[in-house]
Amino acid sequence: MKEYKLYIDGKWVSSQSKKTFLSLNPANEKPIGKFQAGNSDDVEQAVEAAEKAFEQWSETPAPKRGEILFKVAALLRKNKERLARLMTMEMGKVIKEARGDVQEAIDIAEYMAGEGRRLFGFTTPSELKDKVCMTIRRPMGVVALITPWNFPIAIPAWKIMPALICGNTIVFKPSSDTPLCAIEFIKILEQAVPKGVINLVTGSAEDVGIPLIKHRKIKAISFTGSRDSGRFVIENAGIKKVGLELGGKNPIIVMDDADLDLAVDGVIWGGYGTTGQRCTAASRVIVHKKIKSKFQELLVQRIRKLKVGDGLKKETDVGPLINQKAVEKTHSYIEVGQKEGARLAIGGQKIKGKGYFYEPTLFTDVICDMRIAQEEIFGPVVSLLEAEDLDEAIKIANSVSYGLSSSIYTSSIRNAWIAVQKIDAGLTYVNSSTIGSEAHLPFGGVKETGNGTREAGILGIDEFSEFKTVYFDYSGKLQKATID
Ligand code: NAP
Repeated sequence: MKEYKLYIDGKWVSSQSKKTFLSLNPANEKPIGKFQAGNSDDVEQAVEAAEKAFEQWSETPAPKRGEILFKVAALLRKNKERLARLMTMEMGKVIKEARGDVQEAIDIAEYMAGEGRRLFGFTTPSELKDKVCMTIRRPMGVVALITPWNFPIAIPAWKIMPALICGNTIVFKPSSDTPLCAIEFIKILEQAVPKGVINLVTGSAEDVGIPLIKHRKIKAISFTGSRDSGRFVIENAGIKKVGLELGGKNPIIVMDDADLDLAVDGVIWGGYGTTGQRCTAASRVIVHKKIKSKFQELLVQRIRKLKVGDGLKKETDVGPLINQKAVEKTHSYIEVGQKEGARLAIGGQKIKGKGYFYEPTLFTDVICDMRIAQEEIFGPVVSLLEAEDLDEAIKIANSVSYGLSSSIYTSSIRNAWIAVQKIDAGLTYVNSSTIGSEAHLPFGGVKETGNGTREAGILGIDEFSEFKTVYFDYSGKLQKATID
């Protein structure tokens, strides 16, 4: 079996731990490679390499850095199909979605490449004569990027591209479930980005993640993962800028004036796309009581037709879960839901045989304070809740501690705008599902989904740059702001 290395200071090297771990194909449980189990010594070397590369990279004019990102985008495009297939093998998402994952990386690379000719600060008048005031952006230094497995190329790209365009150097720790995607992505970057600017250390949260977040020379951390891990990161990072993109429990509201077929499409895509393993997955569907039984019937009919299987097969709609632990977690929520009094409308079983497959599942008669309506399951399990009217639907939507995505299906402009204004979430979709972010718009959540940072779009560079305020006095005399 092929053994893959760490990428430090432009070289592929073995871990000083001399240990390795395996990554498995979740559709058949076969190992796809052996990876370095990095440790704190590797982290040390990676940080050192990134620190050494910082001066030259940060002094490279941003438009030139942009040219490098355009080259990365072109290389990604050339390798799109190969990367997508490899992603399906390692992570399980169906091939069409894997292509979309790589496309997100291409989009953000191009968007951030263009940002090299902007990186705007602002100018503003001074309160004094013969004085100019402005802000400029500066890079942070060495930044740590820690990512999950569910978007194994897109999420790293959402962090790497803005970090690079702003002039930072990087130590990247990917999820231990998707090290191969990370390595293949780095091999693309290697062809365009100078050595030392980006460094990759695979390995566990304990041996790589924690030394990284605690490292004194790391100036900023961008972390995407679960809420509990995010809480640990921010509590242990010390004085650093920390960006957290965490979990979700995203609602779709279906009003009685909605196009029901369209809403069913949205629930199928949002609830069972990526096997429910998206931070933006539609795990709660809040339906107006007048249409609940009709909607449930239509939804169950569609769920019954979903084909579960290996994501590389053309006919597959729903791939495997990421690992056995995810199967057990999903299944434990079936028991929790039933004990709480919810009713299974369809699904609720592990699928026997090789691979981490689980039936697309729908719970009905769910009440908003049940655990299945509050906690992130991260599997193909959707809860159907009933609401009297829009007010109650929004109350239910807002009853969780998360606030990432949300959606409303309605033909009323008034309903739509009320939902947009009142749902506590970072994203609201009208008449489309909870998923579908585009690279040029900000992405992120409120409440316990994050700590206020946004990825992608124009706000994506804020996480990786700091403003310096410049007062430029050409009066030739001492002028005192607020006093003269
Ligand atoms: P996770 O267990 O929190 O892990 C995420 C990453 O953090 C992995 O690389 C993991 O390493 C590392 N890690 C975990 N604990 C750490 C710690 N204490 N210190 C440093 N690093 C640590 O999450 P996951 O299971 O991979 O991903 C699923 C979660 O991510 C879900 O909650 C999902 O909603 C969320 N997510 C959020 C967004 C968003 O943008 N809001 C997007 C995608 C996913 P190991 O893999 O080695 O354990």
